[in-house]
Amino acid sequence: MQNCYCGFEKSFEECCGKFITGINKPNTAEELMRSRYSAYVTVSVPYILKTTHSSTRNLYDSNAIKEWAISSKWIKLEIIQTKKGKLQDEEGFVEFKATYKDADNHTIVHHEYSSFLKEKGEWFFVEGKSV
Ligand SMILES: [Zn+2]
Repeated sequence: MQNCYCGFEKSFEECCGKFITGINKPNTAEELMRSRYSAYVTVSVPYILKTTHSSTRNLYDSNAIKEWAISSKWIKLEIIQTKKGKLQDEEGFVEFKATYKDADNHTIVHHEYSSFLKEKGEWFFVEGKSV
């Protein structure tokens, strides 16, 4: 069995796939973070926008997301640390590294500290800061 794109030892369908298709909602900020990474791998642009918080969603352009998702060869996701973001929390933080090859075949390590908010029981990505 192949691991999920996010690196978890579960199939994509059992892991991030069920969030991206809307069968389940992520319980934690980390699950949302992982599924957003897998959404880049699978070019699931509507999911990326839908899970971005309404306060920052207008900063993201679906064509730009699509372009980045398609032109990159996604290699791996590493979760460095998480703060809060659990089932009972209303906010959460995830530090991660996403490694990919860009259109020129350069390996890029995107190191980000992302913040998440829960609204009506649903987690949203708010913003990411480069580390
Ligand atoms: Zn996954």
